[in-house]
Amino acid sequence: MKIIKLTKNKMPKKSKIATPDWILEGFDSEEEYNKKKGIKVKKQKKGVFKLRLCPKCGSDEVIIVVGKERGKEWECKKCGWRGMNVKEKDLTEEEFMEYLDKKNVELPDEDELKKDFKKTIELPEEDLEEE
Ligand SMILES: [Zn+2]
Repeated sequence: MKIIKLTKNKMPKKSKIATPDWILEGFDSEEEYNKKKGIKVKKQKKGVFKLRLCPKCGSDEVIIVVGKERGKEWECKKCGWRGMNVKEKDLTEEEFMEYLDKKNVELPDEDELKKDFKKTIELPEEDLEEE
């Protein structure tokens, strides 16, 4: 009896999700593992938002000054500060949402959204049936 080896043709795809070392070595958490191994991890999640703050008054209402040939120049709309060394703050998505929350950014009214949704789904029926 012949045993056909299928595995030769089937190249196993490299799994994107590899078991992390800290699990393999039996640690409770990645943090603990990194601590023991002396690994410094940059805590940067994907989707980090950059917040620009005025170094003078701390306002986030800084805008980039357009038309400058050399580098970027920023201007604070609140206190009128101008300069290159704008303060930057990295926010995770969560923090960014919180920030928006605090700022009371107006989101579209829920009823308005529903109206818009209705508009998009209420297609004339003839158009759908005649094809
Ligand atoms: Zn300012």
